[in-house]
Amino acid sequence: MSRLPFYITTPIYYVNSVPHLGTAYTTLAADALARYRRMTGHDVFFLTGLDEHGQKVAQAAEENGMTPQEWCDSIAPRFTEAWEMLQITNDDFIRTTEERHKQGVQAFWTSLHDKGCLYKDSYEGWYCVPDETFYSEDQLEEGKCPGCGRDVEFIREENWFFKLSEFADRLLEHYEAHPAFVQPETRRNEVVSFVRGGLKDLSISRTTFEWGVPLPFDEGHVTYVWIDALLNYVTAAGYGADDPDLAARFERYWPAQVHFVGKDIIRFHCVIWPAMLMAAGIPLPETVFAHGFLLTKGEKMSKSKGNAQSPADLVERFGSDAYRYYFLRDVQFGADGSISMESMVQRYNGDLANDWGNLCSRLFNMAGKYFDGVVPASPATGPTEADETLLEIAAALPQRYEAAMTTFDYVGALEATWDLIKEANRYIENEAPWNLAKSEETLPRLEAVIYNALEAVRIAAVFCAPVMPSTSAEVWRRLGLEDIHTVEDIRSVTAWGGLAAGSHVMKGDPLFPRIYEEE
Ligand SMILES: [Zn+2]
Repeated sequence: MSRLPFYITTPIYYVNSVPHLGTAYTTLAADALARYRRMTGHDVFFLTGLDEHGQKVAQAAEENGMTPQEWCDSIAPRFTEAWEMLQITNDDFIRTTEERHKQGVQAFWTSLHDKGCLYKDSYEGWYCVPDETFYSEDQLEEGKCPGCGRDVEFIREENWFFKLSEFADRLLEHYEAHPAFVQPETRRNEVVSFVRGGLKDLSISRTTFEWGVPLPFDEGHVTYVWIDALLNYVTAAGYGADDPDLAARFERYWPAQVHFVGKDIIRFHCVIWPAMLMAAGIPLPETVFAHGFLLTKGEKMSKSKGNAQSPADLVERFGSDAYRYYFLRDVQFGADGSISMESMVQRYNGDLANDWGNLCSRLFNMAGKYFDGVVPASPATGPTEADETLLEIAAALPQRYEAAMTTFDYVGALEATWDLIKEANRYIENEAPWNLAKSEETLPRLEAVIYNALEAVRIAAVFCAPVMPSTSAEVWRRLGLEDIHTVEDIRSVTAWGGLAAGSHVMKGDPLFPRIYEEE
């Protein structure tokens, strides 16, 4: 039990929307990292879930003739089904209407109240219900919400406030001492300059509706939905739980290694959230990583603009593995990226059908044709220059991949993997097993070439597995190996020579049948 804990989260998604390409993007990035960390021997706790409180949820429920809870219960399966379709391996799925969450939120408020970090005051200002966000008069743009451009409501009520303004210096010190806390760098600069501009105390409660977690010391107040949502990261891990098993979970996994968020919510995650944790005396997460927007023809992917395609449509056309590959390979995680059907077809046919799928098919067919599917003995003759090149690329891959994943660089990790796949294709082309098979004399060389190429495929499949779990499992199955998802020591598993002579290689259908673009 010496495995290091690795706690990774996505934001919890707002229940007034169904899963779309944006929420799927964050979730599958987190999943790929969670899967990789399990393969590097970590004890992973991967959390996602739903944000189910707030005025907007209450309103939507009413419009649909349901109670808020019924409304949430009707939407929740849309998310769990989408995550299943995308092969998401979350270890927990928190819903903020669960008792364990409410209990944790109330424990948190009691703690802050006892520590004198809260006070009651009257609030006057503007509120954007769709965004569930407060604005002062001077923040409005032409009288509308500066975030979404919609109408705002004037609010005048007694609220509880959190003394956020007192935390500016401590936050700045933390950013300074922990350069990895906010990533990437551009977001870090943005956060630092925002905090340097001064912080205002934050309204943390509402009294005009009831759909939220009541403050334990003032029952007429419910928790402001954003604060409620942020607390999921600790409540799911067991913060404030009476249950000793859950409390032990908190000890084990908190602080989180990384929160993945969209760049539009970094103030909540990089300013308010750490200040709340500081106030409560809870350690801060190691990293908040903000990814960019997915753009279609230069516009942000959003439902209101009508350009959000559903993940299900794309999965139906390309398959779940190819979907995952495309979004992590074509968009640099952390930057905005354009996505399109054209580029998705290109990636699919080029990288997956031609490079990876074709390598596997050819090789498995040749192993069948020349050796009845029996893996030849690992080469007895000394390696040639071509062999050495292949071996060197395979030997460098674990470190290159690890370096890329440490910086959340999925493109880099996949490029490193593709260097091996491309070299294996080149190797087969140059060594031409079909010529070596023509004479008895070159049989030892034929054995060496097939063995080496199969070994490259075995190793490449391991590094493809975090992003494309199904096809990697299938490649390993065809190589006669055990379940690839049981790998817990990627370094030793991917050391050269792991493929045992005598095991049976199976042929099968193409892993990525070519897609012909319809006009
Ligand atoms: Zn708004």
